[in-house]
Amino acid sequence: MERTLIIVKPDGVQRGLIGEVIARLERRGLKVVGLKMMQISRELAEQHYGVHRERPFFASLVEYITSAPVVVGVLEGPKAIEVTRATVGATNPVDAAPGTIRGDFGLTIGRNLIHASDGAESAEHEINLFFRPEELISYERAVDPWIVEE
Ligand code: GDP
Ligand code: MG
Repeated sequence: MERTLIIVKPDGVQRGLIGEVIARLERRGLKVVGLKMMQISRELAEQHYGVHRERPFFASLVEYITSAPVVVGVLEGPKAIEVTRATVGATNPVDAAPGTIRGDFGLTIGRNLIHASDGAESAEHEINLFFRPEELISYERAVDPWIVEE
């Protein structure tokens, strides 16, 4: 089992797409093990996007992610990181396949609706940035054996 972090970004919340975005990932079979609404501080944004610090879009990225409330979640499942990235689609909605979240709801890279961790290391780092251990809940769903064979 793997865990990954997602953020429904400010544009997703403002556009009323919280449910739509999470529903798509839930429908895939992924299990929500943590979920909360928050407004990201500048400090947290700079930590979260630290790898992009030297990029030309860094300032506008921090501005965007801190501009309004977000919904942050942790999803669990086999290959959760890869499956979530595939469901989210390419970074630039122009390149994102129809059927993906960004491909169905986005138009520009600066408003691409959702963040998803891109690897095992970043997932662990990001989950620890946004959630305390007691905020994450391990539980069984009756449907689990119908989604993942034992
Ligand atoms: P992701 O992992 O698919 O979200 O993409 P990256 O890790 O490469 O970039 C992080 C976020 O920075 C993206 O989701 C975009 O919101 C933003 N971003 C990346 N590249 C650009 C760019 O060229 N211009 C702008 N305005 N934003 C960008
Ligand atoms: Mg990334």
